[in-house]
Amino acid sequence: MALIINVEALVISVPAQGNAFAQDSEETLLVRITDENGLVGIGECVVTPHVIKEMVNTRTIHFWSQGIKDILLGADPIETVALYDRIYHGSFYHGRRGILIHALSAIDIALHDLAGKQINQPVYKLLGGARCEKIRPYATIYPGDIYDGPLSTVVSELNKQVEIAIDQGLRAVKVPVLFGEHLNDKKLIPFVKECRHMVGDNIDLMLDFGYRWQDWQDAAWLLKRLDDYDIYFAEAPLAHDNLRGHAKLVEVSPIRVGGAEFATTRWECLEWLEKGDVSLLQPGVSRAGGFVELMRIAEICELYGASLIPHSYATGITDTCNFHLQAASLTIPMVEFRSSKLGPSRLRTELVHPAEPEIKDGFVELPTEPGLGITLNEELVDRYSIK
Ligand code: MG
Repeated sequence: MALIINVEALVISVPAQGNAFAQDSEETLLVRITDENGLVGIGECVVTPHVIKEMVNTRTIHFWSQGIKDILLGADPIETVALYDRIYHGSFYHGRRGILIHALSAIDIALHDLAGKQINQPVYKLLGGARCEKIRPYATIYPGDIYDGPLSTVVSELNKQVEIAIDQGLRAVKVPVLFGEHLNDKKLIPFVKECRHMVGDNIDLMLDFGYRWQDWQDAAWLLKRLDDYDIYFAEAPLAHDNLRGHAKLVEVSPIRVGGAEFATTRWECLEWLEKGDVSLLQPGVSRAGGFVELMRIAEICELYGASLIPHSYATGITDTCNFHLQAASLTIPMVEFRSSKLGPSRLRTELVHPAEPEIKDGFVELPTEPGLGITLNEELVDRYSIK
């Protein structure tokens, strides 16, 4: 047993590359937790990094307003569940959902990485061991902020990205349908037909509607007309917190409806299953509560006959976490994967090594290295961490 002697929260900010959607990975909050033998675990949260940093460093005021760092110093990192619960219950004044849970996610990831290194085992074994043989990442592609331009340009950019994804070995692709008012619902039907044609018959195709509709009946009108194109799921059709609308939509949609990508904790995810009635949850490991909470959410999904396909729009740290999660879960059929070959983000390509797993015919082998199995680029961290 080697106890925690240091907890650092660092805002890493690399120069933006001109693609607004990529900026989600131009900044991240990196957590480094060090034990008394000098081993280091890393974690991240890409949401409002400066705020998360303060949340990690804030000092204890009283019983329900304890500082995360205060709780962790001197603790045993392998007690991941106990530490999660101590931080959750010790922060009721300012926590329970949202920002505190985002901070806790980065901490929880770093604890698992450190504990795995201490016992020389990959994180998925700490989570209980392999319950599947291989990992299945799906590619989130993005053509750039060009949805207000000519449709033919959008289609041609998407086409290029699909080719790169398939070349890389991916066999499932999610297309963002983010036209807003630039393309009406009727015109989306031939667009989706074109997307299916683009990927061919042997690739799983998903659509991300980016919260297009307020009224579930508008969403239903389109989804019913997309039945011929074999869509694996429709993400974010309705405003995020419109749970009653989701339940109505699920009743009539021929396509699986996903939601909860911005949800935090199992409590919020449970509402999505009970009130929203969706059969697919998409919370993220680096914002919804780390490994501890995602494993709990995966178990709840089993009770509801639902799937969990964790969100990822961050750096290689989050993507790698998802591989360990799928390995250890029964209810995760695939994980979101942001290939560095599909975007310009330096954090995605350079923050950790290896930046990319080898993907063969749609699958990645189970991780073998201790902890998360990735190494931090200390030079990049030194250069771009905001002092
Ligand atoms: Mg999403």
